[in-house]
Amino acid sequence: MDRSHVTHPKVAIVGGSAAGLFTAYLLARAGRQAHVFEGQDRFDAASRSLIVTHQMREVLGGLGEKAVVNEIRRFELFTDGRVAKIELRRPDLIIERNLLIRELAMAAQAAGASIKFGQKFLSLDENNQTLTLTMERGNSGNADGAQYRTVIGADGAVSRVAKAAGMPKPPTVPLVQAIVDLPAGMAPDTVRVWFIPEDTPYFYWLIPHSSTQGVVGLIGEDGAATKAVLESFLEKHHLKPLGYQGARIPIYTGWTPVRRQLSGGDVYLVGDAAGHVKVSTVGGIVTGFRGALGVVDAILNGGSSSKLHALRRELDTHLLVRKLIHGFTQTHYSHLVDLLNARVRKDLEAHTRDDPRGILWRLCVHQPRFLLVGIRALLSGASFPDHRRPEELPANRAV
Ligand SMILES: Cc1cc2nc3c(=O)[nH]c(=O)nc-3n(C[C@H](O)[C@H](O)[C@H](O)COP(=O)(O)OP(=O)(O)OC[C@H]3O[C@@H](n4cnc5c(N)ncnc54)[C@H](O)[C@@H]3O)c2cc1C
Repeated sequence: MDRSHVTHPKVAIVGGSAAGLFTAYLLARAGRQAHVFEGQDRFDAASRSLIVTHQMREVLGGLGEKAVVNEIRRFELFTDGRVAKIELRRPDLIIERNLLIRELAMAAQAAGASIKFGQKFLSLDENNQTLTLTMERGNSGNADGAQYRTVIGADGAVSRVAKAAGMPKPPTVPLVQAIVDLPAGMAPDTVRVWFIPEDTPYFYWLIPHSSTQGVVGLIGEDGAATKAVLESFLEKHHLKPLGYQGARIPIYTGWTPVRRQLSGGDVYLVGDAAGHVKVSTVGGIVTGFRGALGVVDAILNGGSSSKLHALRRELDTHLLVRKLIHGFTQTHYSHLVDLLNARVRKDLEAHTRDDPRGILWRLCVHQPRFLLVGIRALLSGASFPDHRRPEELPANRAV
């Protein structure tokens, strides 16, 4: 049947960053009218170095190459005077966020999507079987209304769309990183990770984004305290901060449905707005893109997507890993680094963080004491808090 005359309802995407622009690109490529509303007056020019697995290349299908500024072939894990080295069979990628955003925007526009800047989403109303979005133009105080049947919130960790649609907001933690010159002798294809549980239940990292510079950072629980802890770490390691990057990032504490059906239409969430961040390593770029693929699949195919089920399984596995290690003491980490025998290292080298189930399963088979260390920590130490309020716990577990 010739369907060229069929017009599909247009879709509004609030937020023109990584997840929103990729969503717009996918929708436009599938022939849908995709309208992006970005609150800022122009692309976010703030530089931010991000590390992602090579899976980004598969997920983006060739997009994003212009944003790759370095490749990582090795991880060095430090704890309590010990060090373990892990060679990666396929390199991790260091990407520059603002280059990525520009490339995605160009691809979305080339596919037919429109991007409007200086359009800050204020509220959502339901009337006459449609959703009316009210947008403030710049900071003028003037507001415009626009009608849609489908609205996608890609407006980040503190999503106003999620709030307006009555969808749960993920809890957030502060992430701070400092730009530094690489220490003498450090190879630019190596990432260093330090486990110092008395400073953070997560870890410190030093990620080179060029042959001479990199970012040192950590995730904390309180913004001001996190920066102070980072400053003291930098001092201890004789690293001079040349600038700081930071923001609050959501942490995944359990799956919540990404779609809410309202009488005026459907509201979906993608990226940080949906809390699609791997909570073991706190990376949100690849999982944000996968959420976008799943949401677009659901929109095109009438409401559900196996891609969202797969993403949920992966995020749940990262949550399990985080629960196992969140209460780790220095002794647990020392034990863990000692346990990195040759067989286990091979598993870590071959499997990316985007396949946590594969890693977890093989680790347990090849070094069962890993599991024991994790379970002991879980039983004896501080557990990973479920930050959700009771009313936010999903009664409805559908996609
Ligand atoms: C310092 C730092 C380092 C990080 N490092 C890594 C890393 O190494 N690897 C990794 O995978 N992840 C990393 N992350 C996480 C990653 O950056 C995020 O998960 C990802 O950028 C989220 O993209 P997003 O498009 O969902 O949201 P955002 O990038 O937050 O974009 C939201 C967009 O919505 C717009 N917006 C907000 N409110 C409104 C409104 N009311 N109306 C209209 N527009 C609005 C904003 O202006 C913005 O453009 C890091 C995060 C930080 C802060």
